Amino acid sequence: EIEEPSQTLVDMIDDAVSRYRRRTALEFFGAETSYHELGEQIASAAEGLRRLGVRAGDRVALVLPNCPQHVVAFYAVLRLGAIVVEHNPLYTPPELRHQFEDHGAKVAVVWNSVADTVAEFPSDIRPEHIVAVDLTRALPFGKRMALRLPVPAARRSRRALTTKPKARGLVEWERLTSRRAVAKRHPRPSLDDTAVLQYTSGTTGRPKAAVLSHRNLRANAMQSRAWVPGLDLGGETFYGVLPLFHAYGLTLCLTTAMSIGARLVLFPKFDAKMVLDAAKHSPPTFLPAVPPIYDQLVRSAARHPRALERIRFAISGAMSLPTATVDRWESATGGLLVEGYGMTESSPITLGNPMGPTRRPGTVGVPFPSTEIRVVDPDDPEIDRPIGEAGELLVRGPQVFEGYWRRPAETAEALLPGGWLRTGDIVHVSDDGFVTIIDRRKELIITGGFNVSPSEVEAALLAHPDVRGAAVVGLPRADGGETVAAGVELREGAAFDASALRDFCRTSLTPYKVPKHIEVFDELPRSLIGKVLRREVRDGLLERVS
Ligand code: ATP
Ligand code: MG
Repeated sequence: EIEEPSQTLVDMIDDAVSRYRRRTALEFFGAETSYHELGEQIASAAEGLRRLGVRAGDRVALVLPNCPQHVVAFYAVLRLGAIVVEHNPLYTPPELRHQFEDHGAKVAVVWNSVADTVAEFPSDIRPEHIVAVDLTRALPFGKRMALRLPVPAARRSRRALTTKPKARGLVEWERLTSRRAVAKRHPRPSLDDTAVLQYTSGTTGRPKAAVLSHRNLRANAMQSRAWVPGLDLGGETFYGVLPLFHAYGLTLCLTTAMSIGARLVLFPKFDAKMVLDAAKHSPPTFLPAVPPIYDQLVRSAARHPRALERIRFAISGAMSLPTATVDRWESATGGLLVEGYGMTESSPITLGNPMGPTRRPGTVGVPFPSTEIRVVDPDDPEIDRPIGEAGELLVRGPQVFEGYWRRPAETAEALLPGGWLRTGDIVHVSDDGFVTIIDRRKELIITGGFNVSPSEVEAALLAHPDVRGAAVVGLPRADGGETVAAGVELREGAAFDASALRDFCRTSLTPYKVPKHIEVFDELPRSLIGKVLRREVRDGLLERVS
């Protein structure tokens, strides 16, 4: 169990700044910021934002890749009692516009490449002030490094990064933060105040903004810290390769790392070479990431065998972790790679494997401290399933949100009386309490009487040596049922033969599970964090099959 949180995120960062003054808080392409400097920068950014009119309860949009300004802006907004709204800076203009319309931010802090997009929003959506962050200035290697940053898909040109935004009236980040903070105290937020509006990944529909309070986020940082033995002993170096604008990176890197005085090395995007270069002078000890990142690092590290040897713990989440990835990682680095589970609505982590020999690959582990779970009938969550039977997972704990931003109907669907969060995930729990994720409720395929688990069919396809990626979905049939269909990615040089693949599936699957249609994709659509978007595969298959 963890104690009741007593600090807001503002109390937490103030505490860290005074406790760890001399330690390095942030590192970005070799440039370091100490905890003391971080505290000063947060105070002056808060003063700058206050002068722009930001007050308690206002929303401030951040549209930034991982960079020191992201961390400073995050805590500066919270310091004013205002609400951070995180965004994926690679979203297209219509996607961003939809989110701005939803949250109505008063001020936006954005990197240069999206400043014009935000400035061109219609006047009722456009924030009152736009603060532009020029990342090329912050980068010690200047423009050459900047060209390796991610670029919004809609403006993928070299010039987008090196030209200045055209919009008038933008506030430069340097000007915002040029004033020393006045001594005047801002009213401090309380534990139940909203800290962050965090959009879900949009895997099953349009992203929804989860309202996360200081208590929710502080609790999850405390739970994460309790999860990892010895994490508070000092001297940790976290590698921030996950986006800070996603709940997973936010909790492990923006809050947990800062609360324990860790050094946080920030990467604006994942690039194995960038990571291995940085590891030469600041070797990582702790790496939260996703399976594709671990695989790429192991491949690239073959030539730099010592770069990863100080990593004690690697944590995987957001999608299932193949045991082959665990084996490769652990034999290459000597550290542990363990899997956890969570969702945006729960700040996000609710389950994790023990960080030691009792962890169980293939499962997502056991409930976090102070977290309870139930397994219920997916069609009627009032009915608990007998122990050992699969069903929908419900979770309850201090990290579970209060609801979606201005969406009472969706909130009522997700939050059951008594504070239970419906995860939408179908799971199985072993006798000794280890949870295995089977599938999302909405992605189960109803073929007529029988449910087909897309993950099971994907695993059968992936066992074929020619198949590199697979996504299985249900396509609507005239009789109201669904047909099992698959999109596959092939390994280089492999020839596509749908009927041979179906024959192969028949060796491990009962006939009704074998995909009726299999189509080849050059690349399956994936989210920024790397999840295969079955919904988009389904749309693509519908077009091709009909
Ligand atoms: P949306 O809710 O907008 O459709 P999303 O559910 O993908 O998108 P997130 O909150 O980022 O948005 O992701 C949470 C989901 O990710 C969980 O409900 C679960 O389906 C999946 N997930 C998280 N961790 C794991 C894991 N270790 N293994 C398998 N799936 C996982
Ligand atoms: Mg979800």
